[in-house]
Amino acid sequence: MKNSFGEPVGKDTRMCGPRTMQVAVAGAQGRMGRMICEALRSAPGFALVAEVDREDDLRAALVASGARVLVDFTIPAVGADHLDLAIELGVHPVIGTTGIPKERLDAAVSRAREKRLGGVVAANFAIGAVLMIELARRAAQHLPAVEIIEAHHPGKLDAPSGTSLRTRERLVEVVGSLREIPIHSVRLPGFVASQEVILGGPGERLSIRHDTLDRSCFAPGILLAIRRAPTIEELLLDLAPLVLGRDAR
Ligand code: NAD
Repeated sequence: MKNSFGEPVGKDTRMCGPRTMQVAVAGAQGRMGRMICEALRSAPGFALVAEVDREDDLRAALVASGARVLVDFTIPAVGADHLDLAIELGVHPVIGTTGIPKERLDAAVSRAREKRLGGVVAANFAIGAVLMIELARRAAQHLPAVEIIEAHHPGKLDAPSGTSLRTRERLVEVVGSLREIPIHSVRLPGFVASQEVILGGPGERLSIRHDTLDRSCFAPGILLAIRRAPTIEELLLDLAPLVLGRDAR
């Protein structure tokens, strides 16, 4: 039997056996935090050992709970500090918070490499979004005139979205840095998260679009990252290598 996140349902996911992954969640009261806490409670092989939000002491919670993985869905400044704290404590980071400055991410990659600590920072944990970027890269090899439109709910703090910035980075690898790839941001009620990559050619247009209809779409990718983080010995800045294979980076 599967739960609403498409994951098999276990008997009692709270019991900690030797193969149970102990997970702490920061931002547990937020939209994404509530969703992933529910997914962790109902998927087998995970124990949700700490739920931390704004008023709590994450360092104390990580030490007291013995968490092996920290999942973070908070706000940019806080997510960056939580990433550093996880690496300092040897806890595998799985970070979904967007808007973390690139210098902070690059420094975290170096520190994780020194400690051979695996983790994932991904702007978008939806499997469909990983495929959208991959398909757009393939299309841009043939239609290099490309622009990105991203649309989110008005509560989103950062613009352009982390997904659109990551998409642009991955497209620049294909079309080169001399060709500008504009990003257009929309913030309106009625959206959760959507992105369209539009590629134009003489007399034709190709659109590759991903729509998040419900935040549960992020759960399979987050659970995959939690499972794999202790096995990879480096900090990945994308989910793609775990979904598509090591070359997708
Ligand atoms: P939200 O505002 O609903 O939740 C954020 C939570 O973080 C709140 O509960 C807030 O109290 C908490 N918080 C703030 N400061 C904290 C602190 N110091 N310690 C602990 N908790 C703290 O936001 P959301 O919609 O859940 O999104 C959270 C982040 O995740 C955003 O950056 C968003 O862009 C990102 N996001 C990423 C993905 C992805 O797939 N990577 C998907 C959706 C959203």
